[in-house]
Amino acid sequence: MSDWQKIIKDESIASLEKLADKFGHDVIDVEALRPAFENFQMRLTPAALDAIKEVGDPMWQQYVPTVEELDVVDGVIDSLDEDGDSPVPNITHRYPDRALFLVSPICATYCRFCTRRRKVGDPEKIPLNQYDSAFEYLRQHTEIRDVIMSGGDPMMLSDRRLEYLFQQLRAIPHIEIIRIGSRITSHLPERITPEFCEMVQKYHPIFMNTHFNHPDELTPAAVASLDRLSRAGVSLGCQTVLLKGVNDDAKVMMKLMHELLKARVRPYYIYMADQVAGGEHFRTTVQKGLEIMQALRGWTSGLAVPQFVIDSPGGGGKVPLLPEYVEEINDDEVIFRNYEGKRFTYKQPRQLTVVAEQGESDVVPIRRGKKKERVARTKRRKASGE
Ligand code: SF4
Repeated sequence: MSDWQKIIKDESIASLEKLADKFGHDVIDVEALRPAFENFQMRLTPAALDAIKEVGDPMWQQYVPTVEELDVVDGVIDSLDEDGDSPVPNITHRYPDRALFLVSPICATYCRFCTRRRKVGDPEKIPLNQYDSAFEYLRQHTEIRDVIMSGGDPMMLSDRRLEYLFQQLRAIPHIEIIRIGSRITSHLPERITPEFCEMVQKYHPIFMNTHFNHPDELTPAAVASLDRLSRAGVSLGCQTVLLKGVNDDAKVMMKLMHELLKARVRPYYIYMADQVAGGEHFRTTVQKGLEIMQALRGWTSGLAVPQFVIDSPGGGGKVPLLPEYVEEINDDEVIFRNYEGKRFTYKQPRQLTVVAEQGESDVVPIRRGKKKERVARTKRRKASGE
């Protein structure tokens, strides 16, 4: 057993009783929380436990079950209808040139807001003996050039199994990009071992979409694991979920984006939390997200500004949302405001068309500015002595 597997087995907390022993039975009401616990697995690794500074803080909220999880409201089990777009087990094929490949049913630490809680926590939920039909599907669909390995957390697989997956995917000529969606660098940084870093280099280009929601998650150990991945040539991005009480604050988000960049991780998406059953108490308004985007764009480097998206409920895919910068747009001009709210006008280009006649081409204006353009052209010809 590897060191990181021992950490999962021996040093993590995976029962309410142990959690109460650590934080106090007055804080953790074991019986009250049991239905939430039974509904969705709980586990906190030492890294997740260390990141909790006090009861109720942003890290606590992400990992410790609450009775609010049982208030389903309008949440749904498979809010993105991933199963509806699943042609064979473990594959979701929604977008034209890429596919999601669920390769692991387990995570190091379980997040209470998880969209895939229906799929994770129990090894039976993603049968690992069903890879074959997934590979066959990927082989047959030559339009797929990008495969996103996800789960659960793919990094919970052994190096041997990961290498098997990389080999199978790399044997399919049309697959150009392999992405790993993983929260391991914050939950179990010890998993990024020298052996993994050496192995992964054989299968580039490999991208890792990390997942950080709060700047406090970028602990020295997490940053060191990101550094190891960068040195191994893995391109790093980050997905962040907008969560009430965790990061629904422009200053917190700005700090998170800056800390990510310092660790050579490019912020990629901020997601609205999905309408998942059990996660209603984490949701905030779209306006709050737009307000945060407005506080980022222009006020800090574009590198620190990810796309803000809603993953459409029911399976419509990701849709980017932008604050309202454009006030008016017509054939002549666009009127907009900048990040400070100042108004500017951008002139539209003259609408031109190219007319080709027997080898000779000329540019003539259409719709507007016709006379002005003719006068200008005549003047230019006279000036050049034509
Ligand atoms: S690590 Fe990802 S898949 Fe696992 S519980 Fe958290 S959000 Fe869900």
